[in-house]
Amino acid sequence: MHSLSKPKILLIYTGGTIGMRKDFETGALKAFNFSKLLHSIPELQLLDCEIDTFSFENPIDSSDMNPEHWADMARTIEKNYLDFDGFVVLHGSDTMSYSASALSFMFENLSKPIIFTGSQLPIGDLRTDAKENLITAIQIASLQENGAPLIKEVCLYFEYKLYRGNRTTKINAEHFRAFVSPNYPFLVESGVHLKINSDLFLETNAEDSLKVNTHLDNNVAIIKMFPGINKKVLTAILNSEGLKGIVLETYGAGNAPTEGWFLNLLQSAINKGLYIVNVTQCAIGSVSMGQYETSTTMKKLGIISGKDITTEAAITKLMYLLAQNIPQEDFKIAFETSLRGEMQ
Ligand code: ASP
Repeated sequence: MHSLSKPKILLIYTGGTIGMRKDFETGALKAFNFSKLLHSIPELQLLDCEIDTFSFENPIDSSDMNPEHWADMARTIEKNYLDFDGFVVLHGSDTMSYSASALSFMFENLSKPIIFTGSQLPIGDLRTDAKENLITAIQIASLQENGAPLIKEVCLYFEYKLYRGNRTTKINAEHFRAFVSPNYPFLVESGVHLKINSDLFLETNAEDSLKVNTHLDNNVAIIKMFPGINKKVLTAILNSEGLKGIVLETYGAGNAPTEGWFLNLLQSAINKGLYIVNVTQCAIGSVSMGQYETSTTMKKLGIISGKDITTEAAITKLMYLLAQNIPQEDFKIAFETSLRGEMQ
């Protein structure tokens, strides 16, 4: 739908440092009342868009994030989808890349922006990074072309850059530049002007109607390889009751030990119907099974290639696909296909 009036943006507050205050007794930061938070930013009135707000009843530190919260966020956006041109989600930075990845899979045929942002310092702090993040995220969510939203995907805005959400990872607990998108360039850079790389945006077919999948299956695990990994521990994990899929963080281009016990364990897990996704521990680059002898057997076993996906996107994609009841013989192809621009 095309409109000539000011873009309408829904600001959704889920919690995170951006809205936190110091607890007087303990000195620790905890989530605070959202309406008070907005008073700290009178500049919002000056933006060329209409802003409405919605706050979660119990704002959380994002370390408490879980698939139920993701479903709540998705339902909130779905309920308001027709009334707004874009959505800005205020969220703690600790698990923001997981949430942005999860929501990217939950929303199929998105035709409006969902932009996650937050901050490293509370909005009330003198040196806060929250104002720039919030104001520019709203401005970017308001961008339109011929009366329709310019961005039609789930993004993450932090410290002057807009990234595809499911390509990001948090790399810094100290600096304002907390996120990177190691295998995909940034979509927008904020300087004196907004530098917009529209050729990198995800294109969706305007004819297809929005579909929101709120059901995710968390019978999954992440296993990070390390020299000396213990057979008993690995056996116990792979035999966990109800486990359906794992993300295996391997070395380099997707390499793992060639020891018999290790490959036999993987083989019997796969025979039982478990899905194993191979992602690399390296920050940059892609899994390429078969490039080295140390990954050739894994390829033969039918292990799924995560290519250049982040661990955050891999685990949420696994949760999403497991809930789709995909026939076993089609699962590998489904995972190895890019659904929302999350892999090459
Ligand atoms: N612990 C906080 C959170 O993720 C950190 C932040 O907001 O940046 O909720």
